[in-house]
Amino acid sequence: MILTSSNEFKFIKDSLPKGVNLLAVSKGHNQESIRQIYSYGQLDFGESRLQEALPKKNDLNDLNQLRWHFVGTLQKNKVRGVIKEFDFIHSVDSLPLLERISRISQEENKIPNIFLQVKFRDDPKKGGFLKQDLLQSWPKIMTLENIHLIGVMTIPPIALTSFQRKDLFCECRNFANHLGLKDCSMGMSNDWQEAIQGGATWIRLGSVLFGKRPI
Ligand SMILES: *Cc1c(COP(=O)(O)O)cnc(C)c1O
Repeated sequence: MILTSSNEFKFIKDSLPKGVNLLAVSKGHNQESIRQIYSYGQLDFGESRLQEALPKKNDLNDLNQLRWHFVGTLQKNKVRGVIKEFDFIHSVDSLPLLERISRISQEENKIPNIFLQVKFRDDPKKGGFLKQDLLQSWPKIMTLENIHLIGVMTIPPIALTSFQRKDLFCECRNFANHLGLKDCSMGMSNDWQEAIQGGATWIRLGSVLFGKRPI
């Protein structure tokens, strides 16, 4: 596990255009690594499993500016826990899930920031709304309360070339614009430059910042 140094971190951070936010995806990495990246000035951290996030959050609760983002597949029975513990959810992939989030947010007196995960290419390995299904559900989505809908999130299929990725990211940007949503959460360690060219406002970096995941 090799953590990026303060200088390397600053180099990446300074290369980001204005309006592009960095999410440090800390899944698979321990509290101490998160503390170190936080000490470089990073405030947004992403986790993909509630069970893994809870002890880390507990240990890090003295870092009071830290904001937590949930980026993993969200199971029904984890919705309440995720709403209580996270400020942003990047991975809302169906209308029933969104309705559940809305209802439980109301009960918990929360208004989470929400990205809708959209699948722009066929990919059996990935979840997400299909464009046409999301458009069909849109009137219903607009009526849901206690959610702050901020953007669209996407993960390209693994096999795409750099050029095809950029194309997909542009499509995501256009779709978000069409819905009137400001944010696009797209781009990971292997394709964040293409994502920025395509119009990302949140890039999600794990291994580039934390080194290879031990698990
Ligand atoms: C793990 C993960 C990332 C970070 O992946 P890297 O390739 O290590 O940068 C980003 N987004 C999601 C949804 C992830 O699960």
